[in-house]
Order: sequence, then C-alpha cells, then structure tokens
Amino acid sequence: MTEQKSTPMIECPHCGAEMFWDDSSVFRPFCSERCKMIDFGQWANEEHSIPEELLYPESHNDPAID
Ligand SMILES: [Zn+2]
Repeated sequence: MTEQKSTPMIECPHCGAEMFWDDSSVFRPFCSERCKMIDFGQWANEEHSIPEELLYPESHNDPAID
C-alpha cells in the first residue's frame, strides 16, 4: 500500500468534507467559498444565534402550522 504524504487531507470545519490541503484549495481550511463565507459570517455576525424563521419568515410556510 502506497500513501502519498505530500498532500495532506483535511476536513472542512463547516461541512466535514474531505479535501486536499494544497495551493489549489484556495478556500482552505474550507472546502468551498460557500462554506468559508457561511462560517465567516457566523462568527463575525453571530447570525447562528438567530433562528432561520426570524430571518426568513415568509419562506417558512409549513402546512402543519395552523
Ligand atoms: Zn465544506
């Protein structure tokens, strides 16, 4: 079994997706720009403390709720 050590694998802190840590991973330690911006926005604005229904009340049309 041969294992390349030159390019370590890491996990995205946001979604846990595995990816290579190298110069091509421009959004490292995140797997994508989306994960990077989401995580950045959370600690920067603490939006994670705001329930989604408060942010988007119109889009939360659950028929189970009378
Ligand atoms: Zn991710």
